[in-house]
Amino acid sequence: MSTTPINLYNLSLEELQSLFESWGEPAYRAKQVYRHLYVHLAADFAGMTDLPATLRDRLATETRIGDLEPVKMQQGDGGLTRKVLFRLPGGETVEAVLMVYPERATVCVSSQAGCPMGCVFCATAKLGFLCDLTRGQIVQQALWAAREVRKIRANPGDELASGALRGGVDALPASLSNVVFMGMGEAFNNYDEWWGSVERLHDPAGFNMGARSFTVSTVGLAPGIRRLAEAPLPVNLAISLHAADDEVRGAMMPVNKAYPIQTLLEAARDYAVRTGRRVSFEYVLLEGKNDEPAQAERLAEVLGMGPLKDCRSLIHVNLIPWNPVPGSPLARSSRERVAAFQRILRDRGIPCTVRVERGRDIDAACGQLAGNA
Ligand code: SAH
Repeated sequence: MSTTPINLYNLSLEELQSLFESWGEPAYRAKQVYRHLYVHLAADFAGMTDLPATLRDRLATETRIGDLEPVKMQQGDGGLTRKVLFRLPGGETVEAVLMVYPERATVCVSSQAGCPMGCVFCATAKLGFLCDLTRGQIVQQALWAAREVRKIRANPGDELASGALRGGVDALPASLSNVVFMGMGEAFNNYDEWWGSVERLHDPAGFNMGARSFTVSTVGLAPGIRRLAEAPLPVNLAISLHAADDEVRGAMMPVNKAYPIQTLLEAARDYAVRTGRRVSFEYVLLEGKNDEPAQAERLAEVLGMGPLKDCRSLIHVNLIPWNPVPGSPLARSSRERVAAFQRILRDRGIPCTVRVERGRDIDAACGQLAGNA
């Protein structure tokens, strides 16, 4: 009888030790393998030459280093942006995007295939919900990106168009520096597996990424925000607000029925008070829908005077000019509109930035991930 191989990325060091114990292997072997996976970023067992051949054979038979199959890679921005399409064992597909900047590299990973949230402006929503990813599948996307960064560093001349990176090759980041959970799906809808991936990538015995290097974006699931406030690692939180009143938000985001703006802001306040950490509000700008100057004023009022008024210093707004989704009747706000919106918020004391855009040419920008092979 054949059983499904174990995805090693699903196992903590302790779980790997238990597995090895059941195989009659000493605990230090588990540590060796764990370091191969997360420090050396091994992609196969053949290179684990410090293990006995019999153990390597058994690993190759009964386990897998990841169960996502990369089926397509695309590059944009002179090789600084890379999108990969992975196929799950069940045939669903997900995407991850690496963005290389001077001195840092960020990967945007998926936590579900498809998405159940139904936001009208998002390409992933059109797929509906397909399935949750396991922690190991989320981890694998980050490790893919870490390997890409190593490849670029090892051979920048072949990997990047000349002049693509400001500061040249000297400005190449040493390694993957940030993981943002903003790809396909809603992480808080798959909380346990998502959190398991954070813990794995953070583990000092392995990949050792600092908690502040992680950012999760939520559609606005208030219970998830409250849960994160109690979590033992200080990861960053972004909340998709996108409108300052329930009518506009409700028309764009079905989740607003369950968690209207007031409820959401109360959860954000409790999070800020409990953790002392900054809360970032994302606001996708759609022409004629939510980009009027009066709507910017309303947003400043809602954030500055509402439940968050006593933690104003922790609020930040990140404007995202809408990225086109095929077949959508929506339109992107003009640059002038975006600038005016930002000015109004800033003039009213709300720190506000515009998200740097990457990967539009390869459909890798925010809200464009739809898993097309
Ligand atoms: N499920 C998470 C992550 C979504 S992707 C969430 O809802 O927050 C990250 C951000 O991109 C979210 O704020 C999302 O609303 C936004 N977004 C979705 N589609 C977009 C598009 N076509 N253009 C720009 N931003 C988009």
